[in-house]
Amino acid sequence: MMSLDNIKSDNIESDTHYFGSGRVNLIGEHIDYNGGLVMPIAINLGIKGQYKERKDNNICLYSSSHQKQIIFSADNIPSQYDPENDWCNYPIGVIHALYNDGLKINGFDLSFDSNLPEGSGLSSSAAIEVLTAYILLHQAGNPIHLPALAVLCQKVENEFIGVKCGIMDQFAVANCKKDHALLLNCNTLKYEHVPFELDDYSLLVMNSKKPRSLIKSAYNERKAESEEALRILIEARKLNQGQYLVDADMADISIITDPTIRKRARHVVSENIRVRHAATALRMGDLHTFGRLMNASHQSLKEDYEVSGLELDTLAETAQNIIGCLGARMTGAGFGGCAIALVQKKSIESFSKILSHRYLTVTGLNCEIYECQAEDGVRIIN
Ligand code: ADP
Ligand code: MG
Repeated sequence: MMSLDNIKSDNIESDTHYFGSGRVNLIGEHIDYNGGLVMPIAINLGIKGQYKERKDNNICLYSSSHQKQIIFSADNIPSQYDPENDWCNYPIGVIHALYNDGLKINGFDLSFDSNLPEGSGLSSSAAIEVLTAYILLHQAGNPIHLPALAVLCQKVENEFIGVKCGIMDQFAVANCKKDHALLLNCNTLKYEHVPFELDDYSLLVMNSKKPRSLIKSAYNERKAESEEALRILIEARKLNQGQYLVDADMADISIITDPTIRKRARHVVSENIRVRHAATALRMGDLHTFGRLMNASHQSLKEDYEVSGLELDTLAETAQNIIGCLGARMTGAGFGGCAIALVQKKSIESFSKILSHRYLTVTGLNCEIYECQAEDGVRIIN
């Protein structure tokens, strides 16, 4: 690393703006690793990226939400995660992966400016990764294959950053379409854009502001419990080798004797059915049915999969009982992060007041509420 003196230098030639959206999963939670379907949207909150070519051969990374800035030579791209590099590890990981794929990397300034909360389950990490990859490929004049770009960025997060996330986040940021949800099979990467038109309703994202502390251990535990359920069903010949837990039906599950494993399996199987019904409801413009499926998803995550908690339950269940709300659920891996609600536009103000007050009373925390639209994923904005 060099000194930071020449950061933001004036040897700039071109200037283009890009946007990497955050994402929220509408339904299909904790079933991506069980062969199931997810249904995220890209949202209007996200990260702006500004690319400026440099005459020297240095790469300079800057973010308005972080103090740390970095400059290094394009001939000497860091090849592994370094805690010293802080947030810059995300773009560096992507630059390094593209370089390894044969992309010629010249000097540039890349600056980020975001209104997407970080660490709240709205995938700011995927947003910054996908945005960086998109910018570099676009600037190089390379054709951009968005599903492949998502896979590259997931690999960066798994291997360079060291976070074992699935493909949903990067795939959503790369491939989502305005006014549509993305119905995605995370194993086959087969996907379909399903209309998400809300007319008199809005999707509200409710940030619990609760740090997601339990998440890693619980995630691994649930994964292991799902694997155990699958093993039992294969042994009992309810499923064949190579099938997934979502391929079981509700009757099959009753043979599982361990009540905890049975509950986990019940969530997985029922949630996948709910995603299919939710997609049908959206295709028919039936938001009332969609809302009921959101409520059922929350209940299943709370009672059968047990990944909710006081904060997310308070947000979702309070929302469900406020007039003008068609449905609400926790979203993301759980224990903190965000919940979502489908709320009549004219009720948003009263809804927000009641919800915030109740949430503060029960948890002592102030939630944040964002009104979100389904937007295009990563894109050029000028
Ligand atoms: P999430 O993806 O749920 O927001 P993560 O912990 O996976 O949470 O990723 C958050 C990290 O991504 C931040 O700590 C930071 O390192 C990086 N990041 C996200 N947005 C930005 C940004 N606008 N500028 C710089 N770094 C960012
Ligand atoms: Mg993330």
